[in-house]
Amino acid sequence: MNVVLNPATEERIAELPHGSVEVADRAVATARAAFPAWRAVAPEDRARLLRRLAGLVEEHAEELALLETRNVGKPIGDARGEVGMVADVFHFYAGAVDKHHGETIPVSGGVDLTFREPLGVVGLITPWNFPLNIASWKLGPALACGNTVVLKPAELTPLSTIRLGELALEAGIPEGVVNVVSGPGSVVGQRLVEHPDVAKIGFTGSTEVGRRVMEGAAGTIKRVTLELGGKSANVVFADADLERAAAAAPGAVFGNAGQDCCARSRILVDRSVYDRFLELLEAATRAVKVGDPESPDTQMGPLISAEHRETVASFVEDGAAIRGAAPEGPGFWFPCTIVEATNDDRVAREEVFGPVAAVIPFEGEEEAVRIANDTPYGLSGSIWTENGARALRVARALETGVLSVNSNTSVRVQAPFGGFKQSGFGRELGLHALAGYSEVKNVYISTD
Ligand code: NDP
Repeated sequence: MNVVLNPATEERIAELPHGSVEVADRAVATARAAFPAWRAVAPEDRARLLRRLAGLVEEHAEELALLETRNVGKPIGDARGEVGMVADVFHFYAGAVDKHHGETIPVSGGVDLTFREPLGVVGLITPWNFPLNIASWKLGPALACGNTVVLKPAELTPLSTIRLGELALEAGIPEGVVNVVSGPGSVVGQRLVEHPDVAKIGFTGSTEVGRRVMEGAAGTIKRVTLELGGKSANVVFADADLERAAAAAPGAVFGNAGQDCCARSRILVDRSVYDRFLELLEAATRAVKVGDPESPDTQMGPLISAEHRETVASFVEDGAAIRGAAPEGPGFWFPCTIVEATNDDRVAREEVFGPVAAVIPFEGEEEAVRIANDTPYGLSGSIWTENGARALRVARALETGVLSVNSNTSVRVQAPFGGFKQSGFGRELGLHALAGYSEVKNVYISTD
């Protein structure tokens, strides 16, 4: 049995049977059987069903947020925001169903048209840090394009995704279109990756497992999109509003207890304002409220597991410049931690996936860009400056998929999200995601 824990209390909150290859195969067969009828549903009806799912997510928002808080340990305020985004995602893709259309292309001797065809059965594999959000980012465009789905949540956090599957049925999405199968990634996930009847894998997770997914998919030339790890830079120039940048920096790396692929975990600061910035950052870090995720004031909860806490701790064995407070007793707690580092230190090179930030000084714009790009990852990042030309220059120079200027938030339902380099490829969210769940078919009709 898979014993599911509340990471804030270490209490068991559910026991689920371990999924198996047979269960995965059954789900794929069910999705395959459901595909012809689902792709034939009229666009306005498919849109209506997605809109109904969005409405049900809104109606059940508090239940879903509590489920997510108890299973992931994230603050209830964050969980409510995430559930709101899930509803918005389904609203957005309901609206996108009949706006994802083909072209007519000028050619000689006839007419050339393109169609956006669904792929068939798609396998969606999601991580434990934002289970419901990331499931919706994949499910919304996959269903809008007319695919059927086998969705595998992480073993640590399957509960909200299972509930979402029930709500999809309640919304009237036909049985077999959305199949949620929990089970270990190395068994159920791997089977979906290798299954000949799965046309595409939409994967979010670590770069290490992403590499394995890509290898496994090669056997059947399966389409893959990979949303992987990050080591993003938060670049603070001397001409920035330092108070604003320092006040915002903790949220960008301690949010979700640092278990965020977009975490701005390298804070690059111009040497001329380094001491002042660190002073401000210390005050802001100590002010982060760490504790019971169900309390509305809490800003940071625990890590996901005892094992993960050990990994995170291994990054600060040499001591920390700033360490916040964390509760004692049960729960996988870890304090907000800031270390002073160079970009060659392990804490600056590897994804910690915990509340640990490395502060790194730089001298001048050129060095800032060089350090920010000196990483195998390229997911996210921030630029803090009052100079608009510099903001644009640096934004173009950074090798990263998603950026924000004078802000640390860059994920929006309407806008593309995804990585450069070893942070993966393909885009989620916005209209861009639809390309990852459809094929372009070109048809030439002779008019002779
Ligand atoms: P993992 O890569 O360990 O797992 C991700 C998912 O893949 C889980 O459902 C897991 O199943 C499954 N899995 C594990 N092994 C295999 C396999 N061999 N074949 C197929 N599927 C498999 O990542 P984590 O869950 O630890 O999530 C954290 C990682 O996700 C971080 O690196 C983070 O940066 C990244 N992430 C990226 C995001 C992005 O959009 N770029 C967003 C959020 C997170 P199970 O765990 O059940 O065994």
